[in-house]
Amino acid sequence: MSETSDEYWMRYALQLALRAREQGEVPVGAVLVQGEQVIGEGWNRPIGQHDPTAHAEMMALRQGGKVLENYRLLDTTLYVTLEPCIMCAGAIVHSRIGRLVFGARDEKTGAAGSLMDILGHPGMNHQVKVEHGVLADECAAMLSDFFRMRREQKRAQRLAQREAQQQAHHS
Ligand SMILES: [Zn+2]
Repeated sequence: MSETSDEYWMRYALQLALRAREQGEVPVGAVLVQGEQVIGEGWNRPIGQHDPTAHAEMMALRQGGKVLENYRLLDTTLYVTLEPCIMCAGAIVHSRIGRLVFGARDEKTGAAGSLMDILGHPGMNHQVKVEHGVLADECAAMLSDFFRMRREQKRAQRLAQREAQQQAHHS
């Protein structure tokens, strides 16, 4: 598979991450591809779904299984904007996908080499081919912009509350 198509699919995953952002969720997107066919799409939405497992990768894998009518997702590639966590790395092993391509690293919770390396663990019964760094800057910027925006919103909220309290005090 060429580098161009990796970039193409990572841009696709970034578009899905935007949907998470629109819903106030941490913007992470994932797309599962077989050949040139999209078989699963996901974006992070644990808050809205009241589901701690509703990560972008899990949603994409679940949809892929339904489309293929198989719990093994052989010969597929999963593109995700952020390094998978422990749970998603586990699901990736169970799904038997062939290849994982992720954008930005996650130093705090990444389980594909950052915090730990589940996928590269020796003796793991399924070896996934892992690549990273595709559009890494754009993927990381989407997250840092989101967290900056959220901090600013919280600051504005605190200011507004303080002003309201002062006004109540003076009236
Ligand atoms: Zn995850």
